[in-house]
Order: sequence, then C-alpha cells, then structure tokens
Amino acid sequence: MTAPQYIGRFAPSPTGPLHFGSLVSAVASYLDAKANQGQWLIRIEDIDPPREQPGATDLILKALDVYGLSWDGPVVYQSQRSELYKAALASLQAEGFSFFCTCSRRQLTGQPVYPGHCHDKTLEPDDDHSIKVKTASYKVIFDDLIQGIQQCQFGVDDGDFVVFRKDGLFAYQLAVTVDDQDQGITHIVRGSDLLTSTHKQCLLQQYLNYQTPYYAHHPVIKKTDGSKLSKQTFAKPLPLDMPAPQLLQALVALGQKPPLALADGSVSEILEWGIQHWQLKKVPNEMGIPEDSLQKRQYKD
Ligand code: GLU
Ligand code: ZN
Repeated sequence: MTAPQYIGRFAPSPTGPLHFGSLVSAVASYLDAKANQGQWLIRIEDIDPPREQPGATDLILKALDVYGLSWDGPVVYQSQRSELYKAALASLQAEGFSFFCTCSRRQLTGQPVYPGHCHDKTLEPDDDHSIKVKTASYKVIFDDLIQGIQQCQFGVDDGDFVVFRKDGLFAYQLAVTVDDQDQGITHIVRGSDLLTSTHKQCLLQQYLNYQTPYYAHHPVIKKTDGSKLSKQTFAKPLPLDMPAPQLLQALVALGQKPPLALADGSVSEILEWGIQHWQLKKVPNEMGIPEDSLQKRQYKD
C-alpha cells in the first residue's frame, strides 16, 4: 500500500476547554486535510502536567464531536509516548548535538540568544540541569503555505533551546517533532504564534534525519487589547449547545466567505460547504486578527 498523500493533525494541550481561537485552528487543519482527501489525526499534548487542567481532554474531545470535527484513527496521547522521546533525546546526545545546561532562568533573562555558558562544562553529579540542543549558526528556511518564505538564522534570531526540562519533563519542541515524524504527518496547519517554534522543529528534524512536513500558519485570533485569545487570557469555552454560528465565524476568520444562506445550516452542512470550497490561499497572511473585526469580514451575499 502506498503512503497516504496527506496526513494532518490537530494537537491541543489539555490546559483547558477549547475556545474560539482553538476552534479556528481545528477547523483550518480539518478542512485542509479533508479538501485534500487526507486524514486528520488528534494528538493530545499532555506532557506538561503542571499546566494541565483535570477533565480538559474530555471537554476538548466532546467539543470536537459537537462541532462535527471527526478524526481518523485513535486519539494519541503524548503522556504515553515517553519511550519515543527518550530515544530521540539519546540520539541527539550520541551525535553531540546537545549539552547539559545548569544556568538559572534569572542568569539568562534579557538574553534572546543563549550565550553558550555551559557548552563545554562538565556536569557535577547533583547539578540541577536541563538538556539543550546546540544551534550554532544553522540557518532554517521554509516556505509557509500561508505566510510565505520564513527564515531563521540561529545565533542571531534564535539560539540553543531546551529539549529536556530541569523538572524532568520532555520539552514541547522535542515531543512535537518526534510525534509529527512518527505519525507520518505531511501537513501542519496551526496558529502563527507557533512560527518561531517551527524554526526549532525544523532544526531538530535535520539533527534527527526526519522529513520536514509542509507548514501553514494561520492568523491567531486576538482580543481587542491585541493579546492572543487563549486560556491564559480567559477566553470563553466554546458553547456546546449552539455550535453553528461559531463554526461559520471560524470560516470567516479563515477568509473563506461562506454564503449568508449557510447561517441557517447545520454543523454538517457548514463543514461540507467548507470542504467543497476550501481555499488555503484565501486564508489571510496576517499574524493576527482582532476578534471584533470578524463581523466586518462577514459572508458573501
Ligand atoms: N499543543 C500546542 C498548543 O496547544 C500546539 C502544538 C502544535 O500544533 O504543534 O499550543
Ligand atoms: Zn547554561
């Protein structure tokens, strides 16, 4: 059997219920996958217990169900995949791409690029440490399907970063990179707040000899004060009793201009329209969209 042409995913962290901003990400990745006859996988990124909220995973899966976003295959949980992350970390260490860093957060405050204090340091037995990857002067370039060409010159724009945390947890950057490879993800559609993470993930892909998938970063939904709609800024959970209006609004945020008549449509009619008419090139190549400007973007009449 030949490998599928398109495998996409939505990868929420269970830090709270889904809100409108996360719905936009879910809808964008779902429609792009389905419009390309692809699979759409769900991965719950539960490797950061201090940030998680009990019950959030169930709420997220319930909301996806109510919003008609049905996924392919079993839900994958990062909390059950430590062995894979451990192996990748061992490989980075064996290849000499990583080092132990004992710097405190305070020592590094105000330094956008890690100054390399610990590059040649030998670790003492009870030193509190994280594991970072060396980025040297690597350059990462990729062509984002929404935002266009992106470049990052490590050593200038970004620097060495954590792959294993001081508190004994695998870092997001490592887990995501390993999972996207292991699950055969070909297309990653997600919010533009993760663009700088993509640079790091592309570098890890090179270090680990992985494929680099296609990336498409859609604008994130912002509050009036310019902050991102998120659990930290107390975004409202998605309503579960009346999903259609939010779903339509998500299409509008993604530049898809649904017809006014669809305002009376069911969830499955809206998604069906979305799949039939999905055009990635209509997604605005902006980094953010204020939530209160969506009314003006509105539907096609
Ligand atoms: N789990 C991350 C989040 O909820 C998203 C990761 C990703 O899409 O790569 O922000
Ligand atoms: Zn250090």
